[in-house]
Amino acid sequence: MKGTTDLNMVNAFIPGQVDLDPQMSQMIERRETLLGPAYRLMYERPLHIVKGEGVWLIDQDGNKFLDAYNNVASLGHCHPEITEAICNQVQTLATNTRYLHNMIMELADALITTVPETNLKHLMLTCSGSEANDLAFRIAKQFTDGVGIIVTETAYHGFTDAVSQFSPSLGTGVNLGTHVKTVPAPNAYHAEGVDIASKFTSDVQHAIDDFRRHGIKPAALIIDSAFTSDGILTGEPGLIAGAVEAIKQAGGIYIADEVQAGFARTGESMWGFQRHGVIPDIVTIGKPMGNGHPVAGLMVSHEVVENFGINSRYFNTFGGNTVSCAAALAVLNVIKSQDILSNANTVGTHLREGIEKLMTKYPCIGDVRGVGMFVGVELVKDRQSKQPDRELTSRVVNRMQQNQVLISACAKGHNVLKIRPPLILTKEQADLIITTLDKALAETL
Ligand code: PMP
Repeated sequence: MKGTTDLNMVNAFIPGQVDLDPQMSQMIERRETLLGPAYRLMYERPLHIVKGEGVWLIDQDGNKFLDAYNNVASLGHCHPEITEAICNQVQTLATNTRYLHNMIMELADALITTVPETNLKHLMLTCSGSEANDLAFRIAKQFTDGVGIIVTETAYHGFTDAVSQFSPSLGTGVNLGTHVKTVPAPNAYHAEGVDIASKFTSDVQHAIDDFRRHGIKPAALIIDSAFTSDGILTGEPGLIAGAVEAIKQAGGIYIADEVQAGFARTGESMWGFQRHGVIPDIVTIGKPMGNGHPVAGLMVSHEVVENFGINSRYFNTFGGNTVSCAAALAVLNVIKSQDILSNANTVGTHLREGIEKLMTKYPCIGDVRGVGMFVGVELVKDRQSKQPDRELTSRVVNRMQQNQVLISACAKGHNVLKIRPPLILTKEQADLIITTLDKALAETL
């Protein structure tokens, strides 16, 4: 097995680091032989999962893991209503957007209804969040006649050639474009006493001014509404309003990347940007949209997409196929009928409060933050210096996995535990995450 280290993905499996049973080693080797060198596995002891059921993932030996790193099957793995909708549709018709079909219109209607405060009246469908951001950037360039894009410094927006150029969390191996400017994400924990909303506005304004100085016209500011890869910096409501205003004043558009924060995860509203009282020009969506089925897309105003529609046609073979639409419609129905939003809020708050209590016991917990079913736990060497403790973070994530609760880590210092349970989590399951974290910290410190 080749010994590669990975600085770009937190908690990537590193061959040779721990002894694995021969069957697992063989499987990993076969995978690398067949899939090549670009894929990564999570955890120092990778998991071989064979089944998913609600909040649980089950491995080949029947061990059950609480999937608290779950933002795709966010209504629970293999949700019966959603799998049924997919099966019914795939048995009836699986085809593309070149034929008239009611399903896509029903989906568009249902999604557009979730953003009544905006002019977002059109839905365009893709198969992944990366494609959605790629398309959003193309539309932004057409509308503004600009090329510059501003992102936060540890953001991830996707894997296509264009989007990877504005996904700095991919690391130094992937070049940022010369048309890309990064700004620090608004981080209240590391800027005590600073008005971080004003700071974020002035950082974005500097990026705009810098573009101008270099003769680059800005096209867009793209923000992951929960600053997920930057360390789950959900922050105070209204935090991004000044920055959004600045890009609009400069003739650029604001793209809300809701691939992580959307579909009720924040527990306060369907979309993360709604907490901030801002109006996006484009909203990109994905991940939980099909609860595991690949479906993504964007919502956009007529004005913003008009020129793009005249100059380019849009066809995506699988994007918007009838089966994906059935999956996404079923997801929306479950979110509404089972009051998922309020569960994300109440159980998420219970989870955060329980983890906050661990702060009295463990000085290495510098900060606990988040909204809804998003929790970031920042681990530091000491509370004075707030120096990131990356090694401890990695040990805790792996120890949690050994104790059968799955989480990961994020942020520039790779030192923020990223806890993103399914939105159907119960209080008892939240308590299991809290006690397992308590145990993992006790065992690793
Ligand atoms: N935007 C954000 C905020 C994401 O987290 C991701 C995926 N991690 C993407 C876009 C890309 O989505 P996908 O993996 O579906 O291409």
